[in-house]
Amino acid sequence: MAVDATLPYDDQNVFAKILRGEIPSRKVYEDEWALAFHDINPQAPLHILVIPKGAYVSWDDFSAKASDAEIGGFVRAVGAVAREAGVIEPGYRLLANVGPDSHQEVPHLHVHLFAGRPLGPMLVTR
Ligand code: AMP
Repeated sequence: MAVDATLPYDDQNVFAKILRGEIPSRKVYEDEWALAFHDINPQAPLHILVIPKGAYVSWDDFSAKASDAEIGGFVRAVGAVAREAGVIEPGYRLLANVGPDSHQEVPHLHVHLFAGRPLGPMLVTR
């Protein structure tokens, strides 16, 4: 179900539970600012989710309230995940859904990283 990204942070969301180690994930990267793990329902040969360690509902929440250090750390982490995955030369796609029209399902900011095949032109519908 799509979430309302204007609501307060819900610390029972699935990614908060992954951050606390309450449910497992297939981790690919972790640093002070971010955790990255494989999406449970991959939409490309490589589909990784990168999430900040702070409690932010969406890109909107994060860009408005996170510190410069958190934002810098998170952006650098997303880049590091892509470099470690070896997808710079073939290329990759980043996506962050915000709110109902985007069909955001998990109310903790996450950036999708898709790679592993030609991804085609960006589509806003499917
Ligand atoms: P979004 O629609 O942008 O909110 O994307 C949420 C993503 O989280 C979807 O691609 C789901 O497949 C993924 N997802 C949900 N639960 C888990 C989980 N426990 N571990 C990994 N990925 C998950």
